Amino acid sequence: MRPDCVFCKLVAGQIPASVVFEDEATLAFMDLGQVNPGHVLVASKAHAANLYELDDAQAAAVFRATARVARAVRAAFDPPGLSIYQANGAPAGQTVFHFHLHVLPRHEGDGVQLVWPVKNPPRERLAEYCAKIRAQL
Ligand SMILES: [Zn+2]
Repeated sequence: MRPDCVFCKLVAGQIPASVVFEDEATLAFMDLGQVNPGHVLVASKAHAANLYELDDAQAAAVFRATARVARAVRAAFDPPGLSIYQANGAPAGQTVFHFHLHVLPRHEGDGVQLVWPVKNPPRERLAEYCAKIRAQL
């Protein structure tokens, strides 16, 4: 636990949260901002600044919890769509530096925007990128 981390305080029960689910490794709670009704955050209980700091067991736990919460949100709110959003680093949009992801019900015209500027590189470039990543696995 990091004493200066708001999500660590939430996990420790030092600040209130509307908890929808928890297990040994994860805590899922209502996002205070509620971009759309039913907006839930799923966080690791242990402090990890981002995805890179999760070990395999933590990663498995948070994504298992995410799928479970997403199914519950769909059943409870019946949104026509649902997005999972997770950011690592300020340029990606991360504002709280304790791993979490958003389970966000979606509706037509809800104002949520994600610009997706595809570059469509040639096939040879994809093969280069692929080899570069595979060499790290
Ligand atoms: Zn933390």
